[in-house]
Amino acid sequence: MDINLKVESLISAQGAWKIEVLKDIFIQEDADRILSFPPALSLADSWVWAYTREGVYNVKSGNWLGSRKVASQAQQTETNKRVNELKTQSWKIDTEPKIRLFLWRLLSGALTVAERIIAHGMQANSICSVCRNGAESIKHVMFDCFVAKQVWRNTCIPVDQWNLDSVEAYIKKLYEAMNKTSLNINHRRVIPWLLWGIWKERNSRVYAVVIGDPHITTGRALEESYLWFIMKEDNSPAQSHNSLPRRVQKNWQRPRQGILKCNVNSFWSNPRRMCGGSWIFRDCNGEVIYHAREAFLAASNRIAAEFRCVLWTLRSLLDIHIENVEIWSDCGAMVEAVKNPKDWPRYRSYIDLFEKLRRGFRSCILEASSSQANTVARRIAASVILEGRFNSYLAAGDPSWLSSLIISEKSSGR
Ligand SMILES: [Zn+2]
Repeated sequence: MDINLKVESLISAQGAWKIEVLKDIFIQEDADRILSFPPALSLADSWVWAYTREGVYNVKSGNWLGSRKVASQAQQTETNKRVNELKTQSWKIDTEPKIRLFLWRLLSGALTVAERIIAHGMQANSICSVCRNGAESIKHVMFDCFVAKQVWRNTCIPVDQWNLDSVEAYIKKLYEAMNKTSLNINHRRVIPWLLWGIWKERNSRVYAVVIGDPHITTGRALEESYLWFIMKEDNSPAQSHNSLPRRVQKNWQRPRQGILKCNVNSFWSNPRRMCGGSWIFRDCNGEVIYHAREAFLAASNRIAAEFRCVLWTLRSLLDIHIENVEIWSDCGAMVEAVKNPKDWPRYRSYIDLFEKLRRGFRSCILEASSSQANTVARRIAASVILEGRFNSYLAAGDPSWLSSLIISEKSSGR
């Protein structure tokens, strides 16, 4: 690969990405990431640091990169030591406490499957009670059984092709995948929820005789992990320099008279590699004027997805001749990037497009919403992916399936 390659050589004279060139040079996943950003025509090439989300170098990320190289050189052989390390690691995994405990139990052989029951000297049928096709071990349930394989196939991590010989080997590889920056961050972060979901789905089939859909297991895991990280972001204390905009209004509030308040949201975390987007705007009486829904192609991360969604929102609002609007997004990083573009060079092509569109309004303010105040927009966006509502539309009035929530926000948001 030409290390002096410049971005401009990947953009055609007509201002579009040269897709064939991208696919020749980059692996599919990287090509998709690049394609999820609009090409910046008016900006000169510049350097972007790959290891912070803003794209600016800091010492911490430099040290992190250095220590990763050192760590990968060290080799560990002994099984027990390896399992203990994995158990210790499990307590530090960024997930719900109940799932951390589950991971520890999984590695300790403390899940109730036939093989463990027999190992404790009790009677049990050793065959998997779900597929009747193999001995029911923890490894079988989590990785070899067809239920597990179907869930893993819905992700971008090829777990069903690994064919490893122990649970520890799988978990080790999965934990490694969670740190792999080349993988989509949502697909990495969801791994603990997927393991948990597979176990719950197995139990529901065995004990409740309820057969779930592996797509729903995957979708639920993605949504739960997504909400977990959103909540964490909301609760994290503000730091002096890199702090995200403070979310002043916990609940939805009506806008001032003469201003329309537009809540936007993108749901991008999903195995289908598509994003859902929505916007809904209300007046000073809390009445919904319009709302819209749209499906987008894959974006490389939540910030990029939110930018796409906001750009689509601005274009839609200009089409219907809205002049004064407040845009409220619960993606604090995106709002921060627009307010401090120098600190977020990675997104400058989006920011550039945003500013160009913004000029079409008399007044257009971007604000950071709490995730709670953005619930209506979030639910519409999530429905695109989780319920497969890929038809885009723009409609006057409120979405009837959310009207009770909208009425309650109208009365409490005075
Ligand atoms: Zn099975």
